[in-house]
This record gives sequence, structure tokens and C-alpha cells, in this order.
Amino acid sequence: MTNASQVVVIGGGQSGLAAGYHLRRLGVDFVILDAQSGPGGAWQHTWDSLHLFSPAAYSSLPGRFMPPQTGRTYPGAQHVVEYLSDYEKRYELPVQRPVRVQEVRREGEVLCVETDSGAWQARAVISATGTWWRPFLPAVPGRGDFGGRQLHTVEYRRPQDFAGRRVIVVGGGNSGAQIAADLVYDTELTWVTQRPPRFLADDIDGRALFDAATARRRALDEGRSDTGGVASLGDIVAVPPVREARDRGLLKADPMFTRLLPGGVEWADGARAEADAIIWCTGFRPALSHLAPLQLRGQRGRIATVGTRAADEPRLHLLGYGDWTGPASATLVGVGRPAREAAREIAAVLT
Ligand code: FAD
Repeated sequence: MTNASQVVVIGGGQSGLAAGYHLRRLGVDFVILDAQSGPGGAWQHTWDSLHLFSPAAYSSLPGRFMPPQTGRTYPGAQHVVEYLSDYEKRYELPVQRPVRVQEVRREGEVLCVETDSGAWQARAVISATGTWWRPFLPAVPGRGDFGGRQLHTVEYRRPQDFAGRRVIVVGGGNSGAQIAADLVYDTELTWVTQRPPRFLADDIDGRALFDAATARRRALDEGRSDTGGVASLGDIVAVPPVREARDRGLLKADPMFTRLLPGGVEWADGARAEADAIIWCTGFRPALSHLAPLQLRGQRGRIATVGTRAADEPRLHLLGYGDWTGPASATLVGVGRPAREAAREIAAVLT
């Protein structure tokens, strides 16, 4: 069966919902197709103790503030899931679940969106599939030789799963620091980072990161010199558990090891550490395999864009993923503006 909708939004996480909010306001006919069985996108799958790096009011989608979470300045993931569930109900967003998009093809005037539940024909497609579904693991010699457990951020849940074990956490970003802080009391922890960890000042959080990302984008767009953006501030927001572990002197990082051995890891100077598990907090890539038939992939697995529009396929927009689809587009508070721009551009073409 082939369905028709003016616009198909692929992905029903925060980015897809923000797009839906603006499409609805503009009176565009659309559907959101989401592979998950429930609302909340990637937030349904994070580790139990995850803290947002901004307070609730600074983690809001267009139209509706995220309510504060009682007793917590930086809300947890479950709070975000509840907010997103409420958001899609409140705005009656037409999300179909679970529907996995397998591929998007050109079919004359329209784009054909092939799914595991039938096909849709659309005059425009917004891809908002996030990055959680494509964990990145660096190529490190000996990775196949290690006899213990190796997992990525996406598989980590709670410290009890590793109680009393020798665990190595790899990565100096927010995930690495939060997971290291989570594990430090219950395990024999080694935290390794490629460069010394850079904590933001305690009074700086995601609000400042958002401002810095926006200022950088504006400077580059206006041909001024690069402000350095978020990278100029530091990498790690000192959310309460990270701050506490750091202040107690428990969050000390070692440099990155150079290879894995059957029973652990080895550094360049020959020093070794034994390990039962290695948790790779080493980032993500955009989940874009459904767009492969369009043959748009450029460097680093990305697609060249003008704003949110694919440079070589004007019927396709990309939302979320990273700064390359709009300043702070891969954040709750940041996705609103590019979502509005994408919806406006699409509405202008359709009418
Ligand atoms: P997702 O939440 O991943 O949603 C994408 C949806 O698309 C999912 O439901 C997925 O199932 C679906 N999908 C994927 N492929 C297909 C397909 N082929 N067909 C149909 N559906 C598909 N941002 C903040 O603002 N504050 C924070 O504190 C913060 N902390 C973060 C902590 C971590 C550990 C990570 C990884 C990110 C964090 N972010 C934070 C960044 C960002 O807000 C999240 O990554 C967020 O989940 C991105 O939303 P999204 O809608 O773009 O993608």
C-alpha cells in the first residue's frame, strides 16, 4: 500500500516533534514516522542517572517550557521522556509507531519513503533520526583481542552491573565524565581521555554552550573570525555528581592507552592496567543509512546542507544531528529555530 502525505518527517524524537510543531502551525499536511514503540527518542535508552546539562527551562522545545523536575536542577532522562510524551499529545502530532524507514528514493516529482509498514509518497522529507543509533568506536590496536566486556555509552545503564569490577571508561566528554562519576564508588575505575579533561567553570552549563554555539555560527555566517564556539569554553559540564566526584579527588583521568591486550590495556610507555570491562564513551555518527539511495553522503558521513536543506536534493531537510544542520540543532533548546526554518522553507515551496 502506498500512502501520500505532503511531508514525511522521519524520526519522532525531539527534532521530529519540533518540526511537527512548526509544520502544524503552518497548516502543512504531514506525518511523523518513528521506529521506537514509545515516545521520547533516544532519551528512553540512556543510563539511569543521566543529568541534562541545562536546567529544565533551558531545555525546552518551541511552544512549551519543560516543567522543572522536583528536587533536581538538571533533569534526568525519564523527565525528558515524560515531557516529550506530553508534548506530542498536547500538539496532537501525528506520530506513527513503530515504523522504521528503510530507504528514501527519488520517484519523479516525489520522494518515496519505503518503510517496514508500507510506503509513503511525499513532496518533502525531513530526516530527524539522531545519532544514538550509530555509536562510534575508534580503531585501537588489539580491540578484537580483549577478553573482557566492551560496550559503548548506548549500552551502559547502572554501576550495579559492574560492582567490584575493574572498569576502564574511555572519553573526555560529558558522557565519559558522567559515567565515570557514576562508576567511581562501586568499581575499580580507570578513566582515560585523549587530552586532560576540561571541566567548564561550575557556574557554566548548557545555557552558555548554546549561546557560544549561536555566536560562533553567526560570526561564521557574517564572515567574521571564528569565535571558537563551544570548544573555547571546555568540554564537561560540572553537573552535581560530576562535581562531587571531582571535588572529592576521585575523577582523575589518565592519558589514552595505545593498545588492548587480552586482559587489559597498555600505554605507550609500557605501563599496563588489567580490566574486566571497557566502556567506550567515544561519540556518535549521524544515522543516515536510510538516505543512501539518494547518494548525497559527503565527508564524515554527513550530507552537505544549506541551512537545513540538502544542498543537492531540495526536497530533503536534515534536523538535529549536530551544528552542521543549525547552531546547537542537536539540543532540546537549539532545535526549535532550525525546525522553524525547515518548516517555513517547505511550506513556501508547497503553496
Ligand atoms: P533522537 O532522540 O535519537 O530521536 C530520533 C528518533 O528517530 C528515534 O526515536 C529513532 O528511533 C528514530 N529513528 C532513527 N532511525 C529511524 C528510521 N530509519 N526510521 C524511523 N525512525 C527512525 N541535549 C540537550 O539539549 N541537553 C542535554 O543535556 C543533552 N544530553 C545528552 C546526553 C547524551 C548522552 C547524548 C547522547 C546526547 C545529549 N543531548 C543533550 C543531545 C540531544 O539532545 C540528544 O541526542 C537527543 O536525543 C537528540 O534528539 P533527536 O530527536 O535529534 O534524535
